[in-house]
Amino acid sequence: MIEVRDLRFAYGGGFALHVPALSVGAGERVAVVGPSGSGKTTLLNLVSGIAVADAGDVVLDGVAVGALSDRDRRRLRAARVGFVFQEFALVDYLPAEENVLYPYRVGTGLRLDRAARDRARALLADFGLGAKTQRRPHQLSQGERQRVAIARALVTRPKAILADEATGNLDPANKEAALDLLFAQAADTGAALLCVTHDHELLPRFDRVVDFAALAVAA
Ligand code: ADP
Ligand code: MG
Repeated sequence: MIEVRDLRFAYGGGFALHVPALSVGAGERVAVVGPSGSGKTTLLNLVSGIAVADAGDVVLDGVAVGALSDRDRRRLRAARVGFVFQEFALVDYLPAEENVLYPYRVGTGLRLDRAARDRARALLADFGLGAKTQRRPHQLSQGERQRVAIARALVTRPKAILADEATGNLDPANKEAALDLLFAQAADTGAALLCVTHDHELLPRFDRVVDFAALAVAA
């Protein structure tokens, strides 16, 4: 589902990344661990199409991301990738339900229909937030905000789910709960799951743990 081939990327004048190969199959759950500043977020941004590689490619669900126009890449990302950001990245003036539906609101060609809205509500209800769908992010606890961010990543039923230290700000019970939600959804839809994490106690739950230092070679 996710194929990285000889990927190279450099920020102007600074950090450079070279990842020879990484693949995550449908339904597979892979954790990536590594020190801060090693390039994990950069890799997730490249895999999701938020950033574009200088060389090599990312193939998502059979589509080579690097060959797409900016617009098509945005559409592919909206339709097939769910991304849970480390800092949640919720929109503070929108209620929880509208935050979950955000992928439908950003000109990505996805249709915000009845089914999508029903799915958003069902996810929030599953996540214990059925009574809080109209609350804004600042009216929710940290763990609740994270669940909204996870629901937003799942609402399109993406083929690939990427999570960037998504459990880092949560207490142990909420960490486990967040992972349960991600895993249940991935199992349900057969999505590939790629999670950057610092939570070593969560690693046994993954099918595979990849050390970033072994993944990325000197650029
Ligand atoms: P990690 O997620 O593993 O902590 P990052 O991918 O965020 O690492 O960053 C890798 C390196 O790239 C760091 O040295 C960081 O300072 C640098 N970096 C991150 N974002 C940018 C950017 N937008 N411009 C220039 N350098 C950046
Ligand atoms: Mg990071």
